Amino acid sequence: MVAVPENHAEFKTQLEKKLFNIYSELIGGCVSRYTGAVCKLCRREGTKLFLKGEKCFSKCILDKRKEIPGQHGKGRFNRKQSEYAKRLREKQKLRRMIGISEKPFRHNFELAARQKGLTGENLLLLLETRLDNVTQRLGFTISKVAARQMVLHGHILVNGKSVNIPSFRVKPGDQVVLKESSRNNPVFKRWWEQTHQNLTLPSWLESNTADYSGKIKNLPSRAEMSFPVNEQLIVELYSK
Ligand SMILES: [Zn+2]
Repeated sequence: MVAVPENHAEFKTQLEKKLFNIYSELIGGCVSRYTGAVCKLCRREGTKLFLKGEKCFSKCILDKRKEIPGQHGKGRFNRKQSEYAKRLREKQKLRRMIGISEKPFRHNFELAARQKGLTGENLLLLLETRLDNVTQRLGFTISKVAARQMVLHGHILVNGKSVNIPSFRVKPGDQVVLKESSRNNPVFKRWWEQTHQNLTLPSWLESNTADYSGKIKNLPSRAEMSFPVNEQLIVELYSK
């Protein structure tokens, strides 16, 4: 049953909540997202996902316990997988690398399927050009989780305008900059310096260390994309 609002103010908050939900759905994966221990996901996928950056280098639980999480995980790690399981795991791996839930991921897939060319490559391109991914690739931070937060909290400007939508898609020619007032933030400064010590920037991006900025030169080819997955398996999973 829907509660009838008692007064105008309550009506307004209910309306705002509804609008927020609709909006979140549109921008994709804002409301529900995994908040558990990230390296548990490394164990689940059997590969380091670098969701928190450094953590996977120094204290990833996968190094200590090479088994699937859960009571019966031990025997399942090396077991032969069914075709379906292989496809599903590949999809989950990619989805978790981006950190979005199934619905927006599926939405991206459907967009990709409608575009010309290879669906798998289109999908990777859609995900690769997300603002949160580009923020990380440009070296503003080494972790995806932090990159997403930086965008959400409005620290990142695209072509001079604040964009706080992680799924925002960048285009060739776009400039991505750390907001002027955020440049004094010691954390952001440290991250920038840390990542730029040995940053291997993909050739489709350009980073300007002098002023905390980066540029998208062109769209990446498949070889220049950062996701080590077999996208064909994901296409097969969804095309059944
Ligand atoms: Zn890890």
